[in-house]
Amino acid sequence: MKIASRLANVSESATLAIGAKAKAMKAQGIDVVNFTVGEPDFDTPPAIKQACKASLDKGQTKYTAATGIPELKTAVCGWMKRLYGVDYTAKETIITCGGKHALANAFLALVEPGDRVLIPAPYWVSYPEQAKLAGGVPVELQTRLEDGFRINLDQLRKALKTGIRIFVLNTPNNPGGFAYTTEETKAIADVLTDFPDTIVFADEIYELLVFGGKKFTSLAAIAPQLKDRTIVFSGAAKTFSMTGWRIGWALGPANVIEAMGTVQSQMTSNPTTMAQYATVDALNNVPTEVEQMRQEFEVRGKLMADALNAIPGVKCLNAEGAFYCFPDVSAHFGRTIEGKQITGSIALATLLLEKAHVAVVPGEPFGNDKHVRLSFACSRDAIAKGVDRIKKLLA
Ligand code: PLP
Repeated sequence: MKIASRLANVSESATLAIGAKAKAMKAQGIDVVNFTVGEPDFDTPPAIKQACKASLDKGQTKYTAATGIPELKTAVCGWMKRLYGVDYTAKETIITCGGKHALANAFLALVEPGDRVLIPAPYWVSYPEQAKLAGGVPVELQTRLEDGFRINLDQLRKALKTGIRIFVLNTPNNPGGFAYTTEETKAIADVLTDFPDTIVFADEIYELLVFGGKKFTSLAAIAPQLKDRTIVFSGAAKTFSMTGWRIGWALGPANVIEAMGTVQSQMTSNPTTMAQYATVDALNNVPTEVEQMRQEFEVRGKLMADALNAIPGVKCLNAEGAFYCFPDVSAHFGRTIEGKQITGSIALATLLLEKAHVAVVPGEPFGNDKHVRLSFACSRDAIAKGVDRIKKLLA
């Protein structure tokens, strides 16, 4: 069967593919340390589950409005007001089947064939693929570990001058593990102010996962001058350990949200009804577990970065947010270990999985082949054991 040409350049999610291979090895009884996981390893807080059960008991099992229940839109707007002091209305809010779905709706609603989408690297694997599915052309903006993966503002300005329809800003960042300070985001916003034709996608899904006593602030609050061309994306997955519940949202200009709603109404209809009701409760009564999870991630991030930095030829940023380390491992490229030549991040990740039984994601699909991504959404023991195995193999 011939597959449509729009899929010719689109890859399967690389993170999901490697994770599946690691799971298959585990199923064969191999003791694999899995650092590929992109979700908190904690259970969803009991109070949220309880809210879902109550919803079921009330018979809330039918379709809702395609773009989500009014109560959840109100709760999301209330969250934005409480945390960041920004005002959004229900018409400027859409509830989606996960953050990924919100982004997909937005690309489909806004991208014309050939439109250029500027994506700072390293980036979450789905941005370029979703841009391509919508007919757009991804344009990479490289950053360097030495600069903490911060965008060089002159390079940003230069790139924006080439005609950019959408600029994607993701902080706290997957896979980079960095988080911009308010001042740094403001400096980026100041550059964007000079490019009125560029729409800004602010992916803030890791908004509560910042470390080192820092506080995250939404771009919507930092740059009110951009609000009429900013779409903010977030969701319940990472904040509340609700990845399987598939609830995300986006906030932005009413006409864009309406267009995203049109896409959604023809593609999926509403996100799961009782998951929506449970998320209302999560947002309005944030469970204490949320801060406990953040604190645990902070400890693990430090453990993992320190252990990685103790391996000769490996350089890693101290984790500032989200739950990923993205070390530069390129000093080991060109070596041959156990008969396998390390030609790049894919070869290294394959070697680590096969010979050390440690699953990491190669950096190549994240836009930087010198790196690999390790998630620290796993126990402290797993971090110690897995990084030690890497150290022994690369010694
Ligand atoms: N944005 C980023 C940067 C992510 O890492 C993820 C998930 O890994 C998402 C969006 C989408 O999350 P979900 O669709 O699970 O809500």
